[in-house]
Order: sequence, then structure tokens, then C-alpha cells
Amino acid sequence: MVTELDTAASSTAAPVVDEVIEVRDLRMRYGATDVLSGVNFKVRRGEVVTLLGPNGAGKTTTIEILEGFRMRSAGEVTVLGIDPATGGEQWRARVGVVLQSWRDHARWRVRELLVHLGRYYEPFSTPERRRPYDVDELIDTVGLHERADHKISTLSGGERRRLDVAIGLVGRPELLFLDEPTSGFDPQARRDFHDLVHRLSDLEDTTIMLTTHDLDEAEKLADRILILAGGRIVADGSAAQLARQVTGQAEVRWSLDGEHFVHATPDATSFVRELFAQHGEAVGDLEVSLATLEDTYIELVQQHETGHPQRAAIAFEEVGR
Ligand code: ADP
Repeated sequence: MVTELDTAASSTAAPVVDEVIEVRDLRMRYGATDVLSGVNFKVRRGEVVTLLGPNGAGKTTTIEILEGFRMRSAGEVTVLGIDPATGGEQWRARVGVVLQSWRDHARWRVRELLVHLGRYYEPFSTPERRRPYDVDELIDTVGLHERADHKISTLSGGERRRLDVAIGLVGRPELLFLDEPTSGFDPQARRDFHDLVHRLSDLEDTTIMLTTHDLDEAEKLADRILILAGGRIVADGSAAQLARQVTGQAEVRWSLDGEHFVHATPDATSFVRELFAQHGEAVGDLEVSLATLEDTYIELVQQHETGHPQRAAIAFEEVGR
């Protein structure tokens, strides 16, 4: 995260903006169908933001408009202070994109390809942001040092994905888009990748916007989660904020004389105090938890689809009983 002081102190030829992405009343119509019908959100410098939503909600459409790959029907969009519809090469050099998979160049070697792609960014180097990334440092950063001189065709699926990320990073972007970054990763590769995202955001001040189907990943990575449903952003906040916003309840679990209990309450502290006042040392296995992101996500999408927030809230209480 960047403080106001850091922002004020840095000076680059490119415009420095605290709002890296600003989207106002974004609309997209395919034929007679409105896919985005008034999307609003902002992303600040150094944030990691995840865009979630059911299939067909318009996530790819939104991301591709931000990347400058798709023209919008209406609304205002600025990315790094510039409208992506008109962003030139200099703007593009500041944005990194990791698409779902990089299938070309199988006969190239890892280091060779990154050096080659990196040359494109040389003219866009600034004293504050040296471009391209030092290739050996980058290879280390994504954990491919042992594979640096191997052909791309010999990489495993997870290694190939790390290479995708390295390709997205080689221009040392200020803003990085990641589409389903860890699909096909084993748990260790996934954890390494999460560490990498945290490092990029904390040390390099890279702003990151990602899409994922993995709610656990969204919860671990994102400072903020945006949920897109019905053509609009229906929720915007941290996983904990969304949980409170939707359910307003914490779940308390405990055991008493070998029996297990669950209770949903808006005030877990008072409830637990009362529990101990009544049963003292007999209380065991105490656990207090907020709704998971999965609970919250399903709840919000259901609310949107049924248009019945009350019904959804009742369903949630039954879970807690
Ligand atoms: P998501 O990424 O959330 O799954 P998409 O942005 O891919 O959603 O698609 C949103 C909706 O727009 C879907 O119903 C899809 O069929 C439709 N769509 C996407 N691209 C086009 C296109 N080029 N022409 C017509 N319809 C499209």
C-alpha cells in the first residue's frame, strides 16, 4: 500500500494517479442484450482487487474494456489516468496482462523469450520505473530459475503459468490484470503464487486486478472484492465487510457435556460472555466465525437472482441453527 506522502514524493513523466482505475456508469450492449447496465467502481494504487461473478455476468467484458481490447457502449473509464479506448503504446507499456494461457513459442527457451519480449519495453523506461524487469531477477521472482534455459515445451502446466505471469510482468507494469491466474496449479504452486502477488503489491506497489473462480483464493489475495451480477456491482468490500453486510451475524460453536452446539448471533462477544457465565469450565471446543466468502457470495448472487433479500436472510439463519 502507498501512503499519500509516497505518492506526493514520486515524480515520473507518466501521470501519477492515486485512482488507478475509475469506472463510471459503464454500459455494454451486445445486440439487444445489456450485459453491463451501469457499472461503477474505483481501484486505488497498490490495491489487489478481485472481480467475482457468475458465468456470463460480464467479468471478461469489463476486464477487456479496461485493458483496451474491447470498445464499450457507454460510460466513462480511465485506467492510469487515460481512456483505454484511446491509450497509445506508452500507456500499454504501463499495463501488464496475463491471459488465460500462453500457447505460442514452445521452442523458445524461458530466458530467451523474456529477454526478447523485454526489449519492447526499453523505450518506456523511466528513472523511477526501470523497464524491462531484470530478466534473471524476474525468473527468480516467479520461481523458474531451474528452468531458465529449458524449452517452453518442456515446462509443466504450473511452470507454464508462472511463465505467463513473468510475461505479464516483464515490462514492470504499474497495473497488472490476471485472468484465472492459478487454474491448474497444485497447492504448493498456488501458495507460491499468492506470496508473489503479495510481494508485487507490497514491494513494487503494483496494482492488481484479477478474476478467479476460487473464492478461497479471492479471500486470501484481495484487499477488496467486487461482485458483478445482473450488469452491476452488487457488492464492494473486503471479505469480512461483505460477510457483515450480508449476514450481520457471527456463528458461535461450542460443546457442552459431549454435545455440540451452533448459534448465529449479531453480538458474539456478549453471547460468549453469557455462555461462560452460565456454564463456566464445562464449555469446550469454542469457535467464533464470520460467514465465509462462499456463504456471502452465494447469498448475494441469490438475492440478486430472486430479488428476495429477506428470503435469503432466513435461509442463512437456518444454517446457523
Ligand atoms: P463472464 O466473463 O462473467 O463469464 P462475459 O463477459 O464473457 O462474462 O460475457 C457476458 C455475456 O455477454 C455473456 O452472455 C456472453 O455470451 C455475452 N458476450 C460476450 N462477448 C460477446 C460478443 N462478442 N458478442 C455477443 N455477446 C457476447
